[in-house]
Amino acid sequence: MIDKLAKILNEINNILLPRVCFGCNAQLSRGESVLCTVCRHEMPLTDHSFKEENSVDRIFYGRIPIEKAVSFLYFSKNGIVKQLLHQLKYKNQEQIGGFLGDWCSAHLNQDEFLKTVDVVVPVPLHPKKAKKRGYNQVALFAKKIANTIKADYSDNILLKVSNTKTQTKKGRILRWESTKEVFQLGSIPKKKYGHILLVDDVITTGATIESCARVLKGLENVSVSVLSMAVVPNG
Ligand SMILES: [Zn+2]
Repeated sequence: MIDKLAKILNEINNILLPRVCFGCNAQLSRGESVLCTVCRHEMPLTDHSFKEENSVDRIFYGRIPIEKAVSFLYFSKNGIVKQLLHQLKYKNQEQIGGFLGDWCSAHLNQDEFLKTVDVVVPVPLHPKKAKKRGYNQVALFAKKIANTIKADYSDNILLKVSNTKTQTKKGRILRWESTKEVFQLGSIPKKKYGHILLVDDVITTGATIESCARVLKGLENVSVSVLSMAVVPNG
């Protein structure tokens, strides 16, 4: 009886506050979250693995030694991935990060390479921005991955120290200089971490990852790998 009542209340709730697909606005059925089954099947998965070389690895060649780089989805100008990440970043839809994290985890779960990762580190936000948004949009995704691969999660090894907004007012060279110094090491971990998995939302030119990895390499005997929710193809 209580079960039945709960079901009815749930139905009423669905009518009053219909949960809709972030891809197509269709009403979600029971068991679906964030995306409907149709949109989910249309998501452009990269099918990258940590075993084979891919286009994301190649972004960093000759720039900084990255052990391995992998992206989960392809980002396109008008696609579902862009919509999802926009909602995650600007519309207070933090749970999308968890949804993508679970899904990505299921894909990477059996990857032997990931067993060598000691700690998962999200690309940090400037504290002011984090406070305004209320969350780092990469955090939940990164935590799900850390949990799956049984690695630590740390958001205080790497910090963002200057606000990029003010930099856009500066000249080109200065801007480049400051981008280089935007990140710095936070608290030095007590544990010896040999392999860090750096996690970001979208990789375009790879500049952010490059800056972060450069800073992380300031730690002793550390190698850095990269995982992003999405990548702009040939970005
Ligand atoms: Zn849909």
